[in-house]
Amino acid sequence: MYDFIIIGAGSAGCVLADRLSACGRYQVLLLEAGGSDKRFYVQMPIGYGKTYYQKAVNWMYTAQPSEGTQGRLSYWPRGKVLGGSSSINAMVFVRGNKQDFDDWAAEGNPGWSYEEVLPYFKQMESWQGGESPYRGANGPLKVSNPSHELHPLCDNFVSAGQEMGLEFNPDMNAGNQEGIGFYQLTTHKGQRMSAARAYLWRARSRSNLTVIKHAHVTRLLMDGKRVTGVEYSRKGQVTKVHAQREVLLSAGSVNSPQILMHSGIGPKKVLDQAGVTLLHHSPAVGQNLQDHLGMDYLYTSHVSTLNQQLRPWYGKLWQGLVYLLTRKGPLSLSVNQAGGFMKTRDKLNYPNIQLYFSPVSYTRAPVGKRPLLNPDPFPAFLLGLSNCRPKSRGQITITSNNPLQAPHIEPNYLSHEDDVQDLLEGVKFLRKMAAMPSFAKVIAKELRPGPECQTDAQLIDDIRSYAWTVFHPTSTCRMGPDTEHNVVDHQLKVHGLDGLRIVDASIFPQLICGNTSAACMMIGEKAAAMILAAEEGQV
Ligand SMILES: Cc1cc2nc3c(=O)[nH]c(=O)nc-3n(C[C@H](O)[C@H](O)[C@H](O)COP(=O)(O)OP(=O)(O)OC[C@H]3O[C@@H](n4cnc5c(N)ncnc54)[C@H](O)[C@@H]3O)c2cc1C
Repeated sequence: MYDFIIIGAGSAGCVLADRLSACGRYQVLLLEAGGSDKRFYVQMPIGYGKTYYQKAVNWMYTAQPSEGTQGRLSYWPRGKVLGGSSSINAMVFVRGNKQDFDDWAAEGNPGWSYEEVLPYFKQMESWQGGESPYRGANGPLKVSNPSHELHPLCDNFVSAGQEMGLEFNPDMNAGNQEGIGFYQLTTHKGQRMSAARAYLWRARSRSNLTVIKHAHVTRLLMDGKRVTGVEYSRKGQVTKVHAQREVLLSAGSVNSPQILMHSGIGPKKVLDQAGVTLLHHSPAVGQNLQDHLGMDYLYTSHVSTLNQQLRPWYGKLWQGLVYLLTRKGPLSLSVNQAGGFMKTRDKLNYPNIQLYFSPVSYTRAPVGKRPLLNPDPFPAFLLGLSNCRPKSRGQITITSNNPLQAPHIEPNYLSHEDDVQDLLEGVKFLRKMAAMPSFAKVIAKELRPGPECQTDAQLIDDIRSYAWTVFHPTSTCRMGPDTEHNVVDHQLKVHGLDGLRIVDASIFPQLICGNTSAACMMIGEKAAAMILAAEEGQV
């Protein structure tokens, strides 16, 4: 019999497994549908170009067409491996904006303001820049500052941003997020620093932690309104396990609502249509789906870019040797090397656009498909952006009572006009930035969308026909006080049920300004602290 059962070894689940097993008093079981993360393409940073389509480590979902993106389907990679999506992501380390968390708290979630979550962000990291009032230096997650290893064109990007009036920001994870600068990465000594590497690797030798890989959780077990355990399928065999204290659902924003619905917890209408017996009506399960949408503009360059290093066979061979011998070079980095946060309108109280700079390009790759080690044969780079707090809302549902069938994902991108406006203002900014002296001297021409795309109508048409997910779905089991629009309360306990908390990206009351893995790990840290405090009788 276990005290705690954790479902999903992703960004949040690995943190829970480590923190709950650390004191030795509790028996902890971690169930993960995927397998080991000790794979070359998971550990080598640029290997995410490969794992992006690797069934062995990736759920490889397809989201339904959205009218706002001209009926295009959308490819949704999600990690299916120890470390979850933190084992296949692009490793950009961004906490989010102070205002994001203050707004979470203001929506009726005491304990989640920036000031209150900051200690968890600090305790989780070892930031290469050292300890400060905002940064931690003793946590398990190594966060690196690769600014001296980046492609020289990153300096042109930062200077062009400054010429546009943005301030250079040496640390977007400290007090002020806005401005332009170099991205910090979840890498260490040239290798990926996933949640598994940071938290799980050190915890796995503990005798009170059991990790079962390839265990696909099919449903939660209930006794009245109490969740008592979990049923999972492994190599065709179905097993039931029971938790003495709590079940912690950390399967991510796609699979956590799916598991709830297959357990009879969710909107009555969806469950009725899928043929699942309703045990607990929770109308917000799977609702409020939000995701960041990205765009990029492609420029050919007078100077060499990563294309010249990564495209030719001899370049690949050389960079491969450099990586194997020194753990340095472009294979040890993300292709998103610099970026920033900005407001396109003064009256906003948080940035609405995140900028990205990648010194590499892929004109022949279909949208969203980037063969990282096979870029264009000519020198070129990408100037990119994504929105920060989209207002469009989608949903995740189930369409049958088979828990092994993929969930039905409807992102409903660009259904809110404000999201279109944000991206329109963002791409206009990118164009002006490309014309600034620091960029003008290196840019040969704009290849995509190209100079013929000029009017607002043309730019919007390009956005609708080109924008793609940047892989940050959240909020499908929202945290908040009212049970009509939210699934969990501020302690992450499912409204109306005992013995079940949800701990992952699905609980975000609202998407944040920035990439989502760091906030998921913070949620894991805070959840573990709340659970342990409750067990010790402090709450
Ligand atoms: C390609 C890509 C690039 C990204 N780039 C970045 C980036 O650069 N920076 C950043 O901060 N964020 C990035 N993200 C987003 C970030 O990685 C995720 O938001 C974050 O990892 C989500 O954490 P989570 O704990 O909610 O879920 P996940 O980390 O996805 O973990 C969920 C886990 O649950 C398991 N699971 C699911 N269903 C079941 C089941 N039925 N039974 C058992 N186990 C199950 C999964 O296999 C997985 O291991 C990226 C994501 C992707 C996919």
